[in-house]
Amino acid sequence: MRLLTLEMEGFKSFAQKTKIDFQAGMNGIIGPNGSGKSNIIEAIRWVMGEQSAKTLRGDKMADVIFNGSTERAPLNRAQVKMTLDNSDHYLPSEYTEITVTRRLYRNGDSEYLINDQAVRLKDIVELFIDSGVGRESFSVISQGQVAAIFNGKPTDRRSVIENVAGVTKYKQNKQAAEKK
Ligand code: ATP
Ligand code: MG
Repeated sequence: MRLLTLEMEGFKSFAQKTKIDFQAGMNGIIGPNGSGKSNIIEAIRWVMGEQSAKTLRGDKMADVIFNGSTERAPLNRAQVKMTLDNSDHYLPSEYTEITVTRRLYRNGDSEYLINDQAVRLKDIVELFIDSGVGRESFSVISQGQVAAIFNGKPTDRRSVIENVAGVTKYKQNKQAAEKK
């Protein structure tokens, strides 16, 4: 499984449609301060279902929608599409190529799609949950997060270990079952 492309439109500083092709192996993103490098990483987190605006350096989720510049009016919608090569079926899906799309409108409406079919957030989360790349995994480590793990409460550290061990999914299913 590997990242093939990432397409952002109206997401943070990427007002117009911007597509990045990733190569096999290691990829580097370089650019001056404020040019959008971290926004690209946040687009990846967001499309995998991130629900915390704070993790994305915002106050509310609508802060991910392009909010205008001197040349451009604010937009009404943020969209990120991420395409993965899944020919090894590393992700639990019959598809050999998977495109995950997330959209958010200013009125609060949101949409999630897997290969152009509308799905629930839960489906996106489950697609990634045991892969080590999902929204709560540690495949994306931002500045400060390393220190937070080491300085955190024992219960927080435990959740890191549970996540790595792949038991988070069962815990979530258990919680959902208990609520019913
Ligand atoms: P550094 O090298 O300093 O880490 P960077 O390349 O990681 O910089 P980012 O933090 O990704 O840069 O980009 C920050 C820019 O994104 C800022 O100019 C900020 O105004 C812009 N930005 C963030 N959210 C939005 C938004 N909703 N609409 C428009 N621009 C936004
Ligand atoms: Mg940055």
